[in-house]
Amino acid sequence: MNHHLSKKKTDSSRSRRIEMKVVHTIAEVRQWRALFAGSAKIGFVPTMGCLHEGHASLIKQSKQDNDFTVVSIFVNPSQFAPTEDLDQYPRTMDADMTLLKSLGVDLLFAPTAKVMYPQGIPLDVEKQRGPFVSVLGVSEMLEGKTRPNFFRGVATVVLKFLNIITPTVAYFGQKDIQQFVVLNTMCNELFVNTTLIMMPIVRGTEGLALSSRNKYLCDESLQIANNLYRGLHAAETMLTQQRAVCTRESLLDTVQKIWQPFIDQGDFKVDYVSFADWTTLEEVNKFDGKVIISCAVYVKDRKDTTRVVRLIDNVVV
Ligand code: AMP
Repeated sequence: MNHHLSKKKTDSSRSRRIEMKVVHTIAEVRQWRALFAGSAKIGFVPTMGCLHEGHASLIKQSKQDNDFTVVSIFVNPSQFAPTEDLDQYPRTMDADMTLLKSLGVDLLFAPTAKVMYPQGIPLDVEKQRGPFVSVLGVSEMLEGKTRPNFFRGVATVVLKFLNIITPTVAYFGQKDIQQFVVLNTMCNELFVNTTLIMMPIVRGTEGLALSSRNKYLCDESLQIANNLYRGLHAAETMLTQQRAVCTRESLLDTVQKIWQPFIDQGDFKVDYVSFADWTTLEEVNKFDGKVIISCAVYVKDRKDTTRVVRLIDNVVV
């Protein structure tokens, strides 16, 4: 065991010589994992692929904190509603593998849906069979209102991954802040022996949070989508500077002022803007604790106007 560890550390401190291992079955992951039982720190970054700098930031942190880093790529059917974009979700496996290799990832686990859901996984919840994990309460707020089974799908697949990989630490992005709250609750209260870490949002130069779904938008609409963050950032500034006198209305007004031209032109349709407590995700009227300012907005593509992309973003103040 120690032999493996010291070899790995020597290799990674010089130029890296160990190739990334790519596996598709649970048995292969377990075989790899058994080499390090009890001795090494294993970091895990679950993804749906179409990787960008946001994903890379999680992986780099894992590389720093752990002896080995595992990444999964799996577009998880159970978190998509029948009306959502499962089939269209961008899949860029070759480019993803190149990036993961360049980052020095040790193991890529890319299972099929059959591996993760032995009984199959129809999108219609009524037809689903087998175990599913619901984290009641926090799953029903914010995103859960528009996407009722989304966090059930996320919690289920992440628990499966944690059971397969048994990582020491798993990394998630603040970009999906509610996901972090849901998963952290799941791990704490199902006594999962993995520590979850939330990493800051990686943004483009003009503020747009990087997201695989940004790929759906033309350049002009991406430019316009920067205003999502401008709106949230204005509310963040207001809250930071005038916390004692802020009201929901004044904060909403601030966001609205920035978004209104784009709402008027049909670029934005707001799903929600929320000012919520950091732990319960309940909407707040007083702003004395840590507040999540978050939003979901439908952005219409200017090039292909039949295309509407739902983007989420948040800031924590
Ligand atoms: P996804 O592939 O979209 O499921 O994302 C995999 C992980 O990357 C999740 O924990 C996301 O929160 C995280 N992530 C996605 N976009 C970003 C970003 N712009 N900055 C930081 N983390 C991100």
